[in-house]
Amino acid sequence: MNRPLKNYDIAELKRLDLAHHLPAQADYKLLEDIGGSRIITRAEGSTIYDGEGHSLLDGMAGLWCVNVGYGRDELARAAYEQMLELPYYNTFFKTVTPPPVRLATKIAEKMSVGNPDLQHVFFNSSGSEANDTVLRLVRYYWQLKAEPDRNIIISRRNAYHGSTVAGMSLGGMTFMHAQGGPMVPGIEHVRQPYAFNEGFGEDPATFTQACVDDIEARILSVGPDKVAAFIGEPVQGAGGVIIPPEGYWPKVEALCRKYGILLICDEVICGFGRLGQWFGHQHYGIKPDVIAMAKGLSSGYLPISAVGVSSKIVDVLKTGGDFVHGYTYSGHPAAAAVALANIEIIEREGLVERTRNDTGPYLAKALKRLDAHPLVGEARSLGLIGAVEIVAEKGTNHRFGGKEGTAGPLVRDLCIKNGLMVRGIRDSIVMCPPLIITHEEIDRIVDIIEQSLNEAE
Ligand code: PLP
Repeated sequence: MNRPLKNYDIAELKRLDLAHHLPAQADYKLLEDIGGSRIITRAEGSTIYDGEGHSLLDGMAGLWCVNVGYGRDELARAAYEQMLELPYYNTFFKTVTPPPVRLATKIAEKMSVGNPDLQHVFFNSSGSEANDTVLRLVRYYWQLKAEPDRNIIISRRNAYHGSTVAGMSLGGMTFMHAQGGPMVPGIEHVRQPYAFNEGFGEDPATFTQACVDDIEARILSVGPDKVAAFIGEPVQGAGGVIIPPEGYWPKVEALCRKYGILLICDEVICGFGRLGQWFGHQHYGIKPDVIAMAKGLSSGYLPISAVGVSSKIVDVLKTGGDFVHGYTYSGHPAAAAVALANIEIIEREGLVERTRNDTGPYLAKALKRLDAHPLVGEARSLGLIGAVEIVAEKGTNHRFGGKEGTAGPLVRDLCIKNGLMVRGIRDSIVMCPPLIITHEEIDRIVDIIEQSLNEAE
């Protein structure tokens, strides 16, 4: 799409940003000290451009979301046409508009593969809102089943499920729990399957079993008849791209079935092709009762999220009268029209299959090159999501610089200086490029990480 470049007064925008705008997840004093945020003005394909003439290869697909890449005319048109026809109407008054109906049908088609009971969709606007819906939905389900004491949700330490009160409470990030509490009660956090940090040098099968045993021990200690659900991201994203060992998810699923606990997958990052399947749980061959999705659902072009719900649960909801839950923008017609067009692009361009058979394996192979680097403890990926663990001493997981949590931000800043947008999470660099990424761009991602590690040494 050739569009005339706009001229922005970047210095003025930075000044106004600092004066009036509070960006999300930011250190406001630090932003002042560095003279304000970088102002991104445009993007095309897998590349973003700032207002000061820099281009950056977007190794993060925005914030794990721009699956079809930037500059999609088709998505802009879908929003435009829907907004002209009907920009808004709600689903509160026994009313609905065509786009969410068609989108729910399309999502049901994708998520019911291997799990025919997953047929129903509830819309929200963000991943956090989706998880608020999940929390209320599963607790309400057990209330209707006359088991109101089943209200505990088991989650994992270092999980990320959003930033609303419910989202941050479901999540397992203690630095988030420490701000603005109290948290939602009744959420228990168990061990995460982070082998590089917590099972270093251990036999993978032993480590996997230890993680699963920790979940079972918690179920038994709180009382199996008190546990409503287990929630987990198929691959933990914001926690540091933690790819669970083989066998972990089937064992967790078996535990849920053993104790009659609902299984929830947070697919906000893993959905829509990221792991080489439409949904991450399909890669692991498990059958969740509920899934949350957002981000790749619309590739971030408009805010929309959804909760996939099994017929088993919806049959029970039908016994309860009104489910008094929902948002002004649930099933927003323009957002739904864009999401539908986005899914059509993913289908037409075969981006799920391409991730599974081509670009995903290519990224895994390219990352292998980093294994030889003296600062790399592990380079791992699945589909098009990956992480590089930075260590001080090869063959160990001792952290670079002697101070935990500093290596990721250090190498991230070097990568950005060198033309690659990645994220630094504690002592790792994580990546999640658009699904349209090319082999040449993947090579460039790995080259820039290597160059940045060399500069950090
Ligand atoms: N769940 C997961 C797995 C996420 O990664 C995120 C965001 O990164 C969320 C939920 C929250 O989504 P949102 O930021 O759209 O509220």
